[in-house]
Amino acid sequence: MSKFWSEIVHALTPYVPGEQPKIQNLIKLNTNENPYGPSPRVIAALQAEAGDSLRLYPDPDSSRMKAAIAEYHGLHTNQVFVGNGSDEVLAHIFQALLKQELPLLFPDITYSFYPVYCGLYGIEYETVPLNARFEIAIDDYLRPNGGIIFPNPNAPTGIPLPVAEIERLLQANKDSVVVIDEAYVDFGTESAVALVNRYPNLLVTHTYSKSRSLAGLRIGYAVGDAGLIEALIRVKDSFNSYPIDRFAEAGAIAALQDEAYFQHTRQQVINAREQLVSDLQALGFEVLPSGANFIFARHAGYTGEQLAAGLREQAVIVRHFKKPVRIADFLRITIGNDAQNQALIQALTGLLRA
Ligand SMILES: *Cc1c(COP(=O)(O)O)cnc(C)c1O
Repeated sequence: MSKFWSEIVHALTPYVPGEQPKIQNLIKLNTNENPYGPSPRVIAALQAEAGDSLRLYPDPDSSRMKAAIAEYHGLHTNQVFVGNGSDEVLAHIFQALLKQELPLLFPDITYSFYPVYCGLYGIEYETVPLNARFEIAIDDYLRPNGGIIFPNPNAPTGIPLPVAEIERLLQANKDSVVVIDEAYVDFGTESAVALVNRYPNLLVTHTYSKSRSLAGLRIGYAVGDAGLIEALIRVKDSFNSYPIDRFAEAGAIAALQDEAYFQHTRQQVINAREQLVSDLQALGFEVLPSGANFIFARHAGYTGEQLAAGLREQAVIVRHFKKPVRIADFLRITIGNDAQNQALIQALTGLLRA
């Protein structure tokens, strides 16, 4: 603390990301990174970019990247906004579109960055409890609001919501912006991108960090009505004209060109998830249904804290949330490669026997 801090800095409660331990040989299943590397085409594109051109600023509009994303989704370039990770895209969305007279709504158990942005930008919000099965219940959002945001599948539960439910929300909620954060959608959840041409208040965000295995490159984007996108561009151009560096743009374009690699690796993750779910169930775990690259599980005989600590002693790191109490006994476990998942099951088997 210092006497030079502004009032807003005093009031901030920053987001705490999952730990990135510096220890070697850990089984790291705590931050939902992809166990497979990025496409070899991405690596080649990054190597090709490493040259004299780095002395020049990148394209402030990232127009080649936007065109590639627009084509991928069958949209217009003016329906795409790109940013330095989807967290940055979300930050601009909160500031540009979600600060309204009525409170913003989001689930009580969800991505914990949302309340952080509300604090940063002075946005009023109300949380909407998940139902008894830990699902988002659309009926609970059908009331006056200044905006609605949730991930689909939700985090950290992993539970997917059918796109028909999102459309039902959009039908009933036409006077505020609805943001669907599809960070994990490629692991078997239906996307709402197909709805953006019909609902001018819908924004859908995607990230390259999970299904494209590029968390280290920081790439995210939003698609939606051109009017919403224009608001985001205004904020971006008042903040940082060049958020997408030359490597990120080259890598983003190359990743979209390797559809076969993308399909193969995401299917491997989905298959491994199904295997992991059945292995955990065989050990007596309750596992919530997952449409993501992680699962949310608890065991009636142990607290979440005991399990997380016991795994850590065996060099396996998973994510455990102490709060809210309702989820304190769950572990959020990232789907690893087969060897990592087996090591996890082995470690848990040992723990449950002890
Ligand atoms: C990982 C994640 C993001 C942010 O991803 P970036 O790495 O910033 O692109 C956004 N929303 C949810 C729900 C996430 O889990």
